[in-house]
Amino acid sequence: MSARPLVLQTGPIAPWFDARLAELADVAPAWTEEGRARLSAEGATIRLAVGSALHRFDAALMDRVPNLRAVANFGVGYDSTDTATLKARGVALSNTPGVLDDCVADLAFALVLDVMRRTVAGDRFVRAGRWGPERFPLTTRVSGKRLGVLGLGRIGKVLARRAAGFDMAIGYHNRRPDPSVDFLFHDRLVDLATWADVLVVLCPGGEATRGIVNAEVLAALGPRSYLVNVARGSVVDEAALIAALESGAIAGAGLDVYADEPNVPKALWGRDDVVLTPHVASATEETRRAMGDLTLANVESFLATGRLKTPVAL
Ligand code: NDP
Repeated sequence: MSARPLVLQTGPIAPWFDARLAELADVAPAWTEEGRARLSAEGATIRLAVGSALHRFDAALMDRVPNLRAVANFGVGYDSTDTATLKARGVALSNTPGVLDDCVADLAFALVLDVMRRTVAGDRFVRAGRWGPERFPLTTRVSGKRLGVLGLGRIGKVLARRAAGFDMAIGYHNRRPDPSVDFLFHDRLVDLATWADVLVVLCPGGEATRGIVNAEVLAALGPRSYLVNVARGSVVDEAALIAALESGAIAGAGLDVYADEPNVPKALWGRDDVVLTPHVASATEETRRAMGDLTLANVESFLATGRLKTPVAL
């Protein structure tokens, strides 16, 4: 048995992060044979786990740490963790709110600009030597258009500030109106989609939002409007999205997240009306460092006081 506390880590995060975590505690890495052996021998001593959006933390893994009291999640989204089981067992959970808002909003707006103005498609066009022999098609104006946000929370509000600089009208759909903003609230997602020129998805993933951007919402968005998803792939019915693109029911899509990452449907690869990024909305040096620092601050807080620094309400 070790004198230092033993902490479960569900998956590797970054070399510097993993090294700093190992300075704070002994670590049982769930992805190595040695870590799994430690879980078998000492799992009952573990009170804290470090999770991340990229690594599933399911009930089977939780069963191996029956005395778990807290999970420090690297990332603001925690749909990769079985929160129903955590809640049933009275286990606390923290995430990394706030520190990634700017970079995620930046990437969301980059996808809005890109899918409407076709910069990446234009780059491919130039590099293929097509400029001259051919003309690049006209694109869609962004400034002054209607930006709809599904899930106007921390990141959505920063995105709205970006969009205000482009003279865009802002509308949103949450489960209830947010009294801190005076943007146009739509009680029904389908009404927001009807209104918007570009619909940006920024609500949490998980069962409550699974597939809510469905064929009906995409049809309401319409053939001159665009979808951008930087939240979670699970929120959008991916088969319905592909069908909507293929039939021209919507004008295009900018996607950072997918139903089955890293498997991006081949049907999307060849399309110039689609911009694809590999789940990188928070992936800048500065923001990943800040997310790691906040996760480690939660670890330190729990080890010192038994309480997390930025807990979420489960
Ligand atoms: P917040 O919790 O601040 O905002 C989420 C918003 O979604 C809230 O305004 C909430 O309002 C709304 N919402 C929740 N459930 C529903 C629902 N069922 N229908 C409609 N609206 C809903 O979260 P953040 O802004 O910090 O982050 C948003 C999400 O972005 C994260 O959960 C994460 O999955 C994703 N993300 C993706 C990243 C990437 O790399 N691509 C990076 C960071 C985050 P209300 O409660 O009133 O409904």
